[in-house]
Amino acid sequence: MPTPHIGHYINGSSAAGQGKRSQAVTNPATGAVTAHVALADTHDVAQAVVAAQAAFPAWADAPTLRRARVMLKFLELLHQHKDALAQAITAEHGKVFTDAQGEVARGIDIVEFATGIPQLLKGDFTDQVATGIDNWTLRQPLGVVAGITPFNFPVMVPMWMFPVAIACGNTFVLKPSPIDPTPSLMMADLLKQAGLPDGVFNVVQGDKEAVDALLDHPDVKAVSFVGSTPIANYIYETGARHGKRVQALGGAKNHMVVMPDADLDQSLDALTGAAYGSAGERCMAISVAVLVGDVADKIMPRLIEGTRALKVLNGENLAAEMGPIVTQQAHGRISGYIAQGVSEGAQLLVDGRGFKGAQAGAGCENGFWLGGTLFDHVTTDMRIYKEEIFGPVLACVRVPDFATAVQIINDHEFGNGVSCFTRDGNVAREFSRRIQVGMVGINVPIPVPMAWHGFGGWKRSLFGDMHAYGEEGVRFYTKQKSIMQRWPESTPKGAEFVMPTSK
Ligand code: NAD
Repeated sequence: MPTPHIGHYINGSSAAGQGKRSQAVTNPATGAVTAHVALADTHDVAQAVVAAQAAFPAWADAPTLRRARVMLKFLELLHQHKDALAQAITAEHGKVFTDAQGEVARGIDIVEFATGIPQLLKGDFTDQVATGIDNWTLRQPLGVVAGITPFNFPVMVPMWMFPVAIACGNTFVLKPSPIDPTPSLMMADLLKQAGLPDGVFNVVQGDKEAVDALLDHPDVKAVSFVGSTPIANYIYETGARHGKRVQALGGAKNHMVVMPDADLDQSLDALTGAAYGSAGERCMAISVAVLVGDVADKIMPRLIEGTRALKVLNGENLAAEMGPIVTQQAHGRISGYIAQGVSEGAQLLVDGRGFKGAQAGAGCENGFWLGGTLFDHVTTDMRIYKEEIFGPVLACVRVPDFATAVQIINDHEFGNGVSCFTRDGNVAREFSRRIQVGMVGINVPIPVPMAWHGFGGWKRSLFGDMHAYGEEGVRFYTKQKSIMQRWPESTPKGAEFVMPTSK
């Protein structure tokens, strides 16, 4: 039987597109090909941009309250369909259903934030900046904006972008990951049901060809990207060269420091959940445990036990704690890193490569499975420390003191998220102030900021000036205009040749 074909969504309707290429979509738990997704060519992208450009003037002109009400209706529909979205995520990404529900919930938070757009777009006004003159600022939308998103959050990451962009009055072209394309079309359908005019939200499925077409297109005014660092760097440079506003969020290597005074039970739970949740395929996953002083000796036996006891099952199973790896290729990359760690001299305490699909449930024999993997005595010169593995592999580094812990984190190439477990308020305060990382947790392992605070890393985890969503998102998707106004008195005073001052 032929597999279903997943196409684009342009100007309020599904579109097959003219691109000749397609890519298999696979259920990672079983290894079965479930569909084929179209890969857009330049012509398909141009069609989406034309639709978005045509929809822009009316949408930008719509009162903010009208735009907010579409978001409010979308919010209501999302609540009705959240489990269907979570199921679609599990089927194509593999993450466990309960975690997929969490992803959808965090996306919904941003939509809720976007319903407040009338308040967020309120400008500043100064009465009487000079005699008879008032000055105010307002923020206006940019035009057509694009979002290019990774496989690991097919609902949440697009929702970091489009609810804010659209609420600000822009029109949007989403280019999701071809690995899990279905949720993008489900969101497009819900937006249409919410009353969003055709052309305001479009989806082009695809790969590099579609991305390059978006980066080249003169009518795309801004690009938001989330993905790996080499591609983020490329998007930032190419987009900027084409005169676009760009925010490009990249990869990560997130450390969790455990101080000798930390609550060990809490630290252990936090490490296990944050390292192995979603099979480590989260940009905020903890991939390095920095164990200070004698913590390593105390925690290691229980960490080994916890890693071995992980319930690695088909994500549809509600008892599952960890699902499969997203693709065969990713499985190969992660396994390669485990071998690399061994050859570099790290101590492999739990080896996930022995895990077999049959252990995950019926029908999983051909899926892409790995168990949780634990390394001790990792040092900062090893590749498994320096590079992003993006899998269920936790590297433990032993350090003598707090200062060394801070130093190694600050020396690392990435600066997305970080966490410190301690009971000492001064250590917590010093850590938060000194650490060169964009998102910090104190006794919180995965400190993903709430919708109104904005998300973004430092160093090579983010290229661009503004973080995603929150008020930074509103600034990214709008440009400021300053208006100065005077209504002349009935008697003209003649031309003025000096700069106006506040006399
Ligand atoms: P990826 O970089 O391979 O792909 C991201 C997007 O770029 C996809 O839409 C993909 O189709 C496109 N793309 C891939 N190769 C391209 C190329 N050569 N030219 C142009 N476009 C290209 O990332 P991924 O594997 O989908 O996602 C995992 C990565 O994303 C990890 O590195 C993870 O840390 C990162 N990530 C970062 C954040 C963050 O907020 N910083 C959040 C989620 C994921």
